Amino acid sequence: MDRVFGLLGSPVEHSLSPPMQNAAFRELGMEARYHAFEVEELEEAVMGAVALGFGGLNVTIPHKRPVTELCDSLSVDAEAVDAVNTLEFHDGVTGHNTDVEGVGETLRREVGDLDGLSAMVLGAGGAARAMVVALARAGCRVTVLNRTADRAEEVAGLASPLGTEADHGGLDRRDEAGDHDIVLNATPVGTESDETLLTREDLRGASYVFDAVYRPVRTRLLREAEAAGARPIDGVGMLVLQGAASLRIWTGCAPPVRVMEEAVRGRLG
Ligand code: NAP
Repeated sequence: MDRVFGLLGSPVEHSLSPPMQNAAFRELGMEARYHAFEVEELEEAVMGAVALGFGGLNVTIPHKRPVTELCDSLSVDAEAVDAVNTLEFHDGVTGHNTDVEGVGETLRREVGDLDGLSAMVLGAGGAARAMVVALARAGCRVTVLNRTADRAEEVAGLASPLGTEADHGGLDRRDEAGDHDIVLNATPVGTESDETLLTREDLRGASYVFDAVYRPVRTRLLREAEAAGARPIDGVGMLVLQGAASLRIWTGCAPPVRVMEEAVRGRLG
């Protein structure tokens, strides 16, 4: 019988994780299926998955922080971010946060060594939390700006236990973007729209612009980045590499990253 894996969240109907993970299982020749489950009752769903012998779960909005309470232990990254996107069911329930590896590995591939560089993160939700931890751990100086400035302060505070202080403020400071080596968007602005929080004028001077938004793949922000002379980095890499890290945790197998990326890019067009 197929081993079952899944995603718990709400909404999940447009999630790319099922085609991405099922393509990986096919490539690896594993008898396994990955499904997306629309879930409001988080605890019942997690306990049900454990009782039914699921191979593992991903967790997404709005459950990434509440699910930490249901875990018997947390990985170092989940502890640092205080949010979980992957559950492993060996020896109780272990919560992991593979968004940190997803964004960290994307930046290592696209930028290289981050030590001593400076980054501006826009947003203070789950994606921003993972970015701040990945950047701070790699030795990058971070400034977090958010529409709700108080939340930016809280997220900047995630850098302190990692031995570095992050600056924070409101979006009124976003015209400072060009003073940073890397600019990262962790808001949904630009999703299925042509909106952008930053123009080419704001971005002039930045070397890399990373957009967590991947619908569309080539967002207006990334087009503005190119016009400003910065290298654009789309959100597909982070999506694929966080999924690849989850697959490795669940199965111990080397994830077929290229096949997973093709499955995602094929869906996004
Ligand atoms: P979230 O937890 O809901 O946080 C959203 C953040 O965006 C908040 O800080 C919010 O500010 C801000 N925001 C929302 N609407 C805004 C607007 N109109 N103008 C300015 N700021 C706005 O969401 P998330 O999970 O961090 O996800 C953020 C984006 O990243 C989403 O588009 C998601 O799809 C994408 N993402 C991509 C990946 C990937 O692998 N590529 C992974 C995770 C997330 P307030 O605090 O003021 O509300």
